[in-house]
Amino acid sequence: MIDTEELLRLSGSNSYRIGTLTKSAGCIHPLSYCRSMAKKISSMGGKIHGNTRVTSVVPEGNKWRVNFHDGSVLSDWVLFCTNGYTDNVLAGLNKTFIPLVSLQAATKPLSNEQYKKILPEGHTIADTRRVIYYSRRDNRNRILLGSLGRTPECSLASDKRRLITAFKTVYPSISENDIEYFWGGRVAFTPDLLPHLHEPAPGILAGLGFNGRGVAMGSTMGRVMAQRVLGKASKDLDIPTTDLPRYRFSDAKSLAIGLVIPYLETRDRWDIKISGVA
Ligand SMILES: Cc1cc2nc3c(=O)[nH]c(=O)nc-3n(C[C@H](O)[C@H](O)[C@H](O)COP(=O)(O)OP(=O)(O)OC[C@H]3O[C@@H](n4cnc5c(N)ncnc54)[C@H](O)[C@@H]3O)c2cc1C
Repeated sequence: MIDTEELLRLSGSNSYRIGTLTKSAGCIHPLSYCRSMAKKISSMGGKIHGNTRVTSVVPEGNKWRVNFHDGSVLSDWVLFCTNGYTDNVLAGLNKTFIPLVSLQAATKPLSNEQYKKILPEGHTIADTRRVIYYSRRDNRNRILLGSLGRTPECSLASDKRRLITAFKTVYPSISENDIEYFWGGRVAFTPDLLPHLHEPAPGILAGLGFNGRGVAMGSTMGRVMAQRVLGKASKDLDIPTTDLPRYRFSDAKSLAIGLVIPYLETRDRWDIKISGVA
């Protein structure tokens, strides 16, 4: 646990009263990580085919035929790693989670004077709001801050406004004019807030449901899926496989998605009102 004074020193934000410091945590640049993995796969003889949408997966003998718009491959195993972007290629998989939108904004490179006061020792910070605020530095004097929202492209004015408000709340020294980039994407939230590994048929694996925290968890899931493909029994895996769950988010889920964030924000506002801490 760290007290207000230490929290202020490490975060540069006056808006928190108490926190926990996780010394084993860290942060990476996700695109660089992705590129490094791609390089490694290529160097080991693996082939990566981007922009190749799978349209169907059908059984053929005791293998699976994976079809694209202009070809197909036959394989013993098919691994679905589609998280918040899951479509209906594997029937029912996209009903096992709610796709929410995670948003992020980055400032332009700040002056050294301004930059050195925010997260001065390079920590990342995340708060306990239901509609979370989290932030970190990059290596070009920018501050990045994220939350949840509605549009995966961060195209709605209200989504941009949410991030601007978050900056104002956490780092009042950063003005709207300091913010240079807005972006976002889809993430998969599961009812128990845990990731799941499904094996609905022999040779089919689906690892997803990272609840907005898939950078490290997705890599761990990848290792577990590889162990399964190499023959490790399901019960011996760190994440044992299960069938697709019985619960199914209905097609009214787009309505639900529109209501989830305002509902959670209202609860956050109540917490702030009751505790008196913004
Ligand atoms: C703004 C933002 C901030 C985030 N911040 C963090 C963070 O700080 N820490 C953290 O751990 N996580 C964070 N996340 C979440 C993290 O990005 C995801 O959890 C992670 O990307 C999941 O990885 P994945 O490989 O399972 O799925 P994804 O990266 O979502 O990739 C799924 C892929 O499946 C492809 N696909 C879907 N259907 C098909 C099909 N039919 N055929 C072919 N391809 C298909 C999609 O095109 C997509 O490329 C953030 C996400 C966003 C959007």
